[in-house]
Amino acid sequence: MVNITQFANAKITAFVQLTNIFVKYYYYYLMNLIIVGTVAFDAIETPFGKTDKIIGGAATYISLAASYFTAGAGVVSAVGGDFPREYISLLNDHGVNTDGLEIREKEKSFFWSGRYNADMNSRETLTTELNVIDGFKPVIPGSYQGADLLMLGNLSPDIQISVIEQLTTRPKLIVLDTMNFWIENTPADLKRVISMVDVLTINDSEARELSGEYSLVRAARKIMDMGPEFLIIKKGENGALLFSGSRMFFAAALPLEEVFDPTGAGDSFAGGFIGYIARTGDVSFENMKTAIITGSAMASFCVEKFGTANLVNLSKASIYNRIQQFSELVRFTDIDIT
Ligand code: AMP
Repeated sequence: MVNITQFANAKITAFVQLTNIFVKYYYYYLMNLIIVGTVAFDAIETPFGKTDKIIGGAATYISLAASYFTAGAGVVSAVGGDFPREYISLLNDHGVNTDGLEIREKEKSFFWSGRYNADMNSRETLTTELNVIDGFKPVIPGSYQGADLLMLGNLSPDIQISVIEQLTTRPKLIVLDTMNFWIENTPADLKRVISMVDVLTINDSEARELSGEYSLVRAARKIMDMGPEFLIIKKGENGALLFSGSRMFFAAALPLEEVFDPTGAGDSFAGGFIGYIARTGDVSFENMKTAIITGSAMASFCVEKFGTANLVNLSKASIYNRIQQFSELVRFTDIDIT
């Protein structure tokens, strides 16, 4: 016979399970992540081939990568009349809200072209045409207000600042990504936006450029003094470092057999990172460790094909398997030297 205690325990267990399911789906479907960045045309040249204008842009890669972890993401950006509508539908098909994507019929979309060197680790920017982004004043849709998370992908710092200033409640976490173009062209605005965010993600050469320090540990300290509580330094095929105060964590990158095109790797990393945070609703340092592994996994998919080709077609199972490979790569048993 079932006694009262067993019955009460079963009820508590069922209640906890139901609450967990509710929390999981609440975070999954809630419009809780605003993604700002370019939605653009890219032309890419790597040792393995060359593309004409294909869909690219920081917000494109971030939202595609994040879409595997949350259905609550919305984009803020602008494109010109030349931008094919099917590319916007592609974002919508991935559950990404595009109410904040302004289409300016008379203008041209942002265009970037770049060439990768033989080592695939360094690249040269050939063209950056701001076009519709130049002087763009974003308007945040009412439905985006109240979002918990703001991912400021690569875009001009004055637009990033304008988005922060338009939000009626400050998000629980603001993450900023930037690149050498803005460090060199708009340093004052960039420093201002850096002082307003919680997490900054940049690559190693940008961290050195921004801080004037060669040592990444020193560079991290100087950059965190500019405002952000957390700093992520991406090191391309050598992984990524997470810093906060005196804490440090390293996520290795998975050595891959095929690397066709590194374009968007940093943005896919950011998308996987913020998507995982959106899914879990947890902004602690411990959870960020898992989030950077997730980001690294999404970046590894991105580089295996040209542009967004791989990112648009992933399955949950392949993402899960890839994350397991990351974990396997650095797992070892305790060493006994007594
Ligand atoms: P990543 O390889 O992660 O650095 O990102 C490459 C993407 O960033 C490309 O799709 C470009 O369209 C976009 N991009 C390149 N330069 C800029 C820039 N100055 N501002 C914003 N987005 C850019």
